[in-house]
Amino acid sequence: MKDFRKLITLVAATVIALCLFVTGIVISGFRDDGHASDSSKITVKAAVKSETQAATLSAARASEVSAVSTDIPVAEDDETLGFTAKKTSLKAGKSYTFKVNMSGVTWTSSKEEVATVSASGKVVAKTVGKTKITASAGTQSVSVTLTVKPKKTIGIDAGHQRRANLGMEPVGPGSSTSKYKVTGGTSGRTTGIAEYKLTLRVAKKLKEELKSRGYAVVMTRTKHDVDISNKERALKLNKSCDIAIRLHADGSDSTSIKGASVLYPGPDNPYVANLSAKSKKLSQKVLDSYIAATGLSSRGLHVRNDLTGTNWSTIPVTLIEMGYMTNASDDVYMSKKANQYKMAKGMADGIDAYFGY
Ligand SMILES: [Zn+2]
Repeated sequence: MKDFRKLITLVAATVIALCLFVTGIVISGFRDDGHASDSSKITVKAAVKSETQAATLSAARASEVSAVSTDIPVAEDDETLGFTAKKTSLKAGKSYTFKVNMSGVTWTSSKEEVATVSASGKVVAKTVGKTKITASAGTQSVSVTLTVKPKKTIGIDAGHQRRANLGMEPVGPGSSTSKYKVTGGTSGRTTGIAEYKLTLRVAKKLKEELKSRGYAVVMTRTKHDVDISNKERALKLNKSCDIAIRLHADGSDSTSIKGASVLYPGPDNPYVANLSAKSKKLSQKVLDSYIAATGLSSRGLHVRNDLTGTNWSTIPVTLIEMGYMTNASDDVYMSKKANQYKMAKGMADGIDAYFGY
């Protein structure tokens, strides 16, 4: 009987101790939610002190450490949403994974054409511009403005202008030889379209195509009524561009001559021999892609050391003769809007290939 009574006392003591422990945990849990009053906090603390484990928990709570045990639910509201990995600028074509200190957040980009963001926070930079990257969780959100920088800057010269300027300028730096500042160009024998109109139509489409691929673009002209010499065009593009592409179309007395060709400075060019190798590579890439995109015939690469707009360049430069305006099939082909998009796409493919994108 004595042993039985001992056993009962032991069991009863254990049950009471367990009850106190569990009560302590439950009320402590309330406190994390911020609903328990100060008086209940004090009562619970006193009750659990007899239990070593619970006393440890209580001490941790007293020091305001919110997450002490994985058994105890911690309200997310107690955390402030913040970035743990972010960037404020990214080059077009590059990606970076943004991170925050919470899981299950929703990611958005205010301008998806500038950069997209996936459900896991992976940001892919697309085009030059600014966009706001936002992470949201419940009522909280954090944002950062991301600037997408160009992968490269491309200079486009739409050849010629409405009126020729037959004033003279040196064909290259330090040259005693001079040429007309800018000539009138050729025109479509079948369509009647002027070369200066065709070059600007294609230039504008090339600009849009390049921008959509993450390049920045500088144009020597965006309208017909300008007066910019070939030397001035080169100097304008030299300022901020990585390469220059000059758009022209050919003309000949023979109506049967057709096809596209590219002109670049040779290794013996007196002004820009240092740009010859890169300009040749650029010319080759542009021609190959242009022919592939359009199906026009190729007349290959040609060294030209007498072109003012090329000789004043300080960046790799190519001049593409897009086709013969004096040939009926080339002329009609180039006059069509749908084909001009193909021509622009072909050139952009060549520029991508030159840079290795
Ligand atoms: Zn021309």
